[in-house]
Amino acid sequence: MRIVIFGPPGSGKGTYASRLMEKLGVPHISTGDLVREEIRNQTPLGKMIEKYSSSGGLVPDETITEILKERMRSGASKGFVLEGYPRTVNQAKELAKMTKIDAVINLIVPDSVIIRRLSARLQCKSCGAIYNEITLKPRVAGKCDKCGGELFRRADDQPEVIQERLKVYREASAPVVDFYRSEGLLKDIGNEDPNADPNEIVSQILKMIKPRP
Ligand code: ADP
Repeated sequence: MRIVIFGPPGSGKGTYASRLMEKLGVPHISTGDLVREEIRNQTPLGKMIEKYSSSGGLVPDETITEILKERMRSGASKGFVLEGYPRTVNQAKELAKMTKIDAVINLIVPDSVIIRRLSARLQCKSCGAIYNEITLKPRVAGKCDKCGGELFRRADDQPEVIQERLKVYREASAPVVDFYRSEGLLKDIGNEDPNADPNEIVSQILKMIKPRP
């Protein structure tokens, strides 16, 4: 099963993808996490792409495509839940050359909900699990429920950077929706409720991607 989770920043892509990974038994591939790992390790590539990510811009298509190809080579033969890629029509075309996608889940979330969510988002430094100070609190403040790791606020979750990410999404990424709709792969999920239970959305996604008997 090869699934893409698509949506604006803060639409819950990472949260749903990691839960789907557990349910479907395939890896969760997040280009956002791959980018942050390169930056954290201060690799030559990480140093080069830091400026794009910290300002809310996109890493150039060729660079992010190479990062993804490298990750695909190290184990995705049984399938994957991919999230964060593609973000441009050019990337969608590159992905089509790499592999065949079974479905693209399109998360539709109003800007007001996104801004609220991202301003309260926390992530685990060790395992990458995502929390929210309002809707998805960890059991112990500042500590990850799963591994006990320290929770942090992402550098790009500052108000001005959030606005820039939304602008970039509207300009570069929204056309990807039309691309996949015309391919017949797109499945829309609306989520207007800022307090919606992530498990509810995950169940909806699972129903949408289950092969018909
Ligand atoms: P968001 O929460 O905004 O959806 P991600 O965690 O997916 O963010 O990605 C963080 C940053 O990494 C992006 O703002 C961008 O700079 C970079 N990035 C990740 N995936 C891509 C991609 N497919 N194309 C270009 N840049 C990317």
